[in-house]
Amino acid sequence: MTETKEENNCNSTNKSSNEMEKRSIKWTAVLFYIYLHAFGLAGLYFLFVKAKWLTVFYFIFLVTISSIGLTAGAHRLYAHNTFVATWQLRLFIMLAQTKAGVGSIYDWVFWHRMHHRYYGTEKDPYNHKKGFFYSHVISNLLSAPSDLETYAKDIDMRDVDMDGYVWTQRKFYWIFFLLGLLVPVYVTIEYLDESYINSFLIIGAARLLITTNISWLVNSALLVWGLKKGDKFPVDDNSVFFLSKSYWLNYHYVIPWDWKNDEFGTYETGFITFVVKMWRELGLINQLKTATSDDVREALYKIATSKMTLNEALAEIKENAEEAAYKEKLIYRH
Ligand SMILES: [Zn+2]
Repeated sequence: MTETKEENNCNSTNKSSNEMEKRSIKWTAVLFYIYLHAFGLAGLYFLFVKAKWLTVFYFIFLVTISSIGLTAGAHRLYAHNTFVATWQLRLFIMLAQTKAGVGSIYDWVFWHRMHHRYYGTEKDPYNHKKGFFYSHVISNLLSAPSDLETYAKDIDMRDVDMDGYVWTQRKFYWIFFLLGLLVPVYVTIEYLDESYINSFLIIGAARLLITTNISWLVNSALLVWGLKKGDKFPVDDNSVFFLSKSYWLNYHYVIPWDWKNDEFGTYETGFITFVVKMWRELGLINQLKTATSDDVREALYKIATSKMTLNEALAEIKENAEEAAYKEKLIYRH
């Protein structure tokens, strides 16, 4: 079934052209990330040997908030619409994602949707078939291809475009970025009484180093936690995790709109999923979409008996999930 999905993607992309225009190295980005990693690693060393305990706790707090903004926010909410959030939570997510310092939500979502749309093909910006180093690092140092517009029109961004917080963040991104970088450094110097050097290296560089790599990992995680060649189950047959919902990541690329997909290797468990569950209990989100095992079994039966194609079956599973999510919202409101 994985092959069928990839074949579908390939077939649809072949309509325009087979190859993406060459992407060139952005040397300013290379320099920036070399400095970030050099200062960031020094910051991590200082974190372990020189920082005050309050600085350590503040560092963990900031990294956690940024990670939530990236994973539960940019990924589950904005890229895949796995649930609907109140304006207060969307504002929080925008600010939290800003602190990660990895570009605007709009850009992050656009490239992630490109990644899903052209998964495993030449047009996949984080193509896992080129190896972990390409997927995790190199792909983030390349310019957009000159022919981007010819196939970017397949990426529907209207839902993200309509979000006022995303629009504001995109419009004034560099102001948001600088504030997200410098305000925490100022707070560390002024209120935690930490030294200038520790504050800049730990709360400035090391923090951005970690959040940048978390952001990159969302697109390269398949190579860490996904199925590998020679794994117990054949890589061209994902019906196993379709039913058991194990072997996440391969499952995520088939059903990306399931809110229980954790970014890093688990399904329905993990810290970020716990955070999403808390948001639901607090009434901050509703209409959470998930694929039920019954629907998946039913779809597999229909595919096996040739009543349906894979794409038709996936559309039916999604329709049932949306209906169930909407019903849950109505129950919740009563
Ligand atoms: Zn995704």
